[in-house]
Amino acid sequence: MTPLSRRNGHLHFEEVALTALAERHGTPLYVYSAGAIEARYRAFAAAFRSHPHRVCYAVKANSNLAVLQLLAQLGAGFDIVSGGELERVLLAGGDPAGIVFSGVGKTVAEMERALEVGVACFNVESKAELLRLEAVAKRLGVVAPVSLRVNPDVDAATHPYISTGLKENKFGVSISDAAALYRYAADAQALAVTGVDCHIGSQLTTLEPFVDALDRVLALVEALNRDGIELAHIDLGGGLGVRYQDETPPGIDAYATAILERLGHRREALMFEPGRWLVGEAGVFLTRVEYVKENEGRHFLVVDGAMNDLLRPALYGSFHGIEPVFDRPGTPAVEVDVVGPVCESSDFLGKNRMLAAAAGDLLAVTTAGAYGFGMASNYNSRNRAAEVLVRGEQDFLVRRRETTADQLAFEQLLPPLPVSD
Ligand SMILES: *Cc1c(COP(=O)(O)O)cnc(C)c1O
Repeated sequence: MTPLSRRNGHLHFEEVALTALAERHGTPLYVYSAGAIEARYRAFAAAFRSHPHRVCYAVKANSNLAVLQLLAQLGAGFDIVSGGELERVLLAGGDPAGIVFSGVGKTVAEMERALEVGVACFNVESKAELLRLEAVAKRLGVVAPVSLRVNPDVDAATHPYISTGLKENKFGVSISDAAALYRYAADAQALAVTGVDCHIGSQLTTLEPFVDALDRVLALVEALNRDGIELAHIDLGGGLGVRYQDETPPGIDAYATAILERLGHRREALMFEPGRWLVGEAGVFLTRVEYVKENEGRHFLVVDGAMNDLLRPALYGSFHGIEPVFDRPGTPAVEVDVVGPVCESSDFLGKNRMLAAAAGDLLAVTTAGAYGFGMASNYNSRNRAAEVLVRGEQDFLVRRRETTADQLAFEQLLPPLPVSD
């Protein structure tokens, strides 16, 4: 189902040659496949068709407006974590009634705006947040829909930086405190209890943690029912992994079967917040080799893309596949580190790769559709890359390359100041 294919030695994304995209839009460049995103969304929805459900795309995975627009047109809901993401979803045509608002640090202004547009619910992560939300809703004379994000204390067995369901994490309320908070919310006039939420981590490659988390959430739901509190939905978050190297994450049908089996005859609607699974494999990052360099027998390809463009290798030690965009028959592959121009030793896209490449060649860094551009920065005063969306034989520039003037537009020189001696 990958949108990548090699034809006559040249890598294509859907029907478009990546060399053509690099020529047209320059490098470094993010390229996304509309077809791959659409196929994943439809597969997710189809896997749960036997039960009422809503798929709320986790915007932070890739928040490009065109990606959001595509998903909105397919009928997706959205999981947001900031006021900025809310405005993006609205601008892209997302229905506010399909938005869930997650995140541990919601500000008063963010709550006001979300109540004003009418989001589906707030995934509340602490008692303090619940009290703040109640006060804001009361002041505006509205009722805030509430779901508690509970922390089921299960080990997602993923990288510690992307594990969120253990009790030492900052996320959610402990499942043992949840019942008291639900009782409080149920009695508060400005709050309406709608559901329960949990998200235990990202890039999970086995089903057990999901099923364990659901078991604990269901025990809570049953306790709440005994207390007379009914929920409309159970939100199981995101976290389903994708293939970067040789992982074998469960398929969507196995995931759905495991969850639906455990849910049994319960009638609450299911909600999901997938990010990476929908967009990760639908993106590549294109970069061009600037220099081939050798140091004490170690070979480097110095490329024009860097950690400011794609942070995952530096931040988590993540692996991304790196493929030459066109074959170089006859040139022997050598073991190389693919590094960027940023002044940090952690600035690499891949290490110890067997590649045959020369200066000027293009490389495709694969599975770069999630947590790629969204984590990009201007570190080293580098302009952020352009983004292109491919659909069949067409390509659309969906974010133009930044210019240095763009970067400087926000800054100001000091007025003349007396010089001290
Ligand atoms: C990041 C996040 C997601 C999406 O996680 P993926 O691993 O990309 O599916 C979903 N829900 C919440 C609350 C998140 O923080």
